[in-house]
Amino acid sequence: MGRILDGVAIATAIKEEVAAKVRGLAAQGIRPGLAAVLVGKVAASEIYVRSKVQTCADLGLYSEMITPPADITTEAMLDLVRSLNDRDEIDGILIQLPLPAQVDAKALLDSVSPGKDIDGFHPVNAGRLQAGRPALAPCTPAGIIEILKRSGIPISGQHAVVVGRSDIVGKPVAMLLLHQNATVTICHSKTRDLGAMTREADILVAAIGRPGFITPDMVKPGATIIDVGINRITDRAEFERYFAGNEKRAAAFAKRGSTIVGDVHPRAFQLAGAYTPVPGGVGPLTIAMLMANTVRAAQMRRELPRRGL
Ligand code: NDP
Repeated sequence: MGRILDGVAIATAIKEEVAAKVRGLAAQGIRPGLAAVLVGKVAASEIYVRSKVQTCADLGLYSEMITPPADITTEAMLDLVRSLNDRDEIDGILIQLPLPAQVDAKALLDSVSPGKDIDGFHPVNAGRLQAGRPALAPCTPAGIIEILKRSGIPISGQHAVVVGRSDIVGKPVAMLLLHQNATVTICHSKTRDLGAMTREADILVAAIGRPGFITPDMVKPGATIIDVGINRITDRAEFERYFAGNEKRAAAFAKRGSTIVGDVHPRAFQLAGAYTPVPGGVGPLTIAMLMANTVRAAQMRRELPRRGL
């Protein structure tokens, strides 16, 4: 079994560093602030947003939660984002997805000021990231790089294979790995002989959204596996396929009626040199990097205009 890359411990270290930066900024009279917009009442989204707002409080950031009704129009949402773009005490704007069907999500995300786009979803930030300019990078991909670096896993010169090409995970993590001098292959649903590609990987990133999709035969022994997937399973037979013999998981599954499995089959981890578990791997980094991005946005908004960027 490979070495476990402990996302909880790494996220804790990053949050401590963020809190220290927040204290430093306080001495200059600056308090980074985050506005979280949660439309309607979606229980899972509410849990996510509340934990983001709570983490802000824990680390000393200002935060507010704005909760427009589920029937809000695109126009009213655009007005709300414009007002947040203009408010000086707000450095980061987070629009919790998914949005109700009547709201034009693309138009809305594009209306966020790129300097306050702490999710790193705005095309300006995607372009800046690609061009190697100062940018707010998407949180999960940025977190993956932190896991690798802080775990002492070499990236430069390594062959990184990313399975998945979403704008949120696959593409930006491939770009960040490239900036770290990895040789990068991006795979997707039209890739021929996926296993031949993944078996070449020194670093294998799975961001697919399919439970246990990467099987042991698709992994080069000794590779580092980053499993981004979060898939909830409720079916007993499916549970047995992934976790047969795992008593701790079986007890939790019996209690809750569900468990989380990544995009990598747990047996594939046995071949890895190192791997991120699910849960407790990549997931915890996402909130930590959101906090880091908010502080970075507060700094960039004040510094970049002075440097003409
Ligand atoms: P998307 O659905 O947007 O993208 C999935 C990608 O996987 C697509 O590029 C798709 O290819 C590719 N894919 C699907 N099926 C196959 C296949 N059979 N062979 C090869 N490639 C395939 O998902 P996301 O990127 O948003 O998320 C991926 C996973 O990561 C999900 O499980 C999600 O829950 C999780 N996630 C976890 C986060 C965290 O904090 N840990 C944050 C964000 C996501 P194509 O483009 O050709 O369709």
